[in-house]
Amino acid sequence: MKLNNIHFRSLTMLLLVICFSSFSISSNKDFKEKSAKDVKLIFPFLVVGEIKIAGAHDLFLDVVLKEHGDLTIQEIGLVYNSVTKSTIIDNKIARIKVEDKFKERIRNLKPETLYYVRPYAITPGGVLYGEEFVISTIKKGNFTYSFNQNGADAATVNRIKAAFDLATTYYNNFTSIVKHVTVNYSPGTPTADANFSGWINMGANVSYQKAGTAMHEMAHVVGVGQHSKYTELMKGTWQGKRANEILQMMTNDPSAVVKGDGMHFWPYGVNGAHEDDESDFLYIMNALILQGMKVDGLPSN
Ligand SMILES: [Zn+2]
Repeated sequence: MKLNNIHFRSLTMLLLVICFSSFSISSNKDFKEKSAKDVKLIFPFLVVGEIKIAGAHDLFLDVVLKEHGDLTIQEIGLVYNSVTKSTIIDNKIARIKVEDKFKERIRNLKPETLYYVRPYAITPGGVLYGEEFVISTIKKGNFTYSFNQNGADAATVNRIKAAFDLATTYYNNFTSIVKHVTVNYSPGTPTADANFSGWINMGANVSYQKAGTAMHEMAHVVGVGQHSKYTELMKGTWQGKRANEILQMMTNDPSAVVKGDGMHFWPYGVNGAHEDDESDFLYIMNALILQGMKVDGLPSN
């Protein structure tokens, strides 16, 4: 992972440096040396990971404290706002403790909105802000479904509905995919299947009537294993850039790549009920990788 250098400065510290500099002009050699030494105060130094990920309501960022410096760091975190130069009195996310490396999720943001973000450190000498960067949240997805119940009992209807309500929430929060599909209860289908035209069959097997399977089938509906662009980009490993970056950043593994065959991808492809641990992280990752594939050129329609 490449990192952007971020230098901390504060008005307080700048004034301190200016004071020492002007004083040293009229002082003796010893004082000058002392002043010069004092001027070499090392400031905290933070870097923000180059790979930044945006959903419609969330941002995911890596921050590394590369240098603690000569000042006690009392608190560290991120500030953000929809206008430039936000401070700790605007929107602040403080870490519980000062860590050398952390991953931050900024929540409850508005879709399609520019946010100005910068890391900060609070020291006895004042608040030091890192270089500001600007990032936009994505358009909210609009993935909708209609449901052919085909005489399913109430419990089955509730399970399948709950699965797709949850799965579409992840798509609509973490992708900008727009598609309407038909979910069809099909007791003769062993597990579930789907195609690019927007048809999803859900079988009678209860363990496959969950959100993970719903997301797996939704991935097929938006091209995974179903579109020529998928075949073009999946050569054992994903040939696009963004889906791989997302996997690398979110799993803290700079060498990670999305793998797959002609029909499926992994990890986070929920390729079978046994892979569905119902975790928030799994569903977020599945949606983010699909958004990455979309950015890399996989059409949803
Ligand atoms: Zn499949």
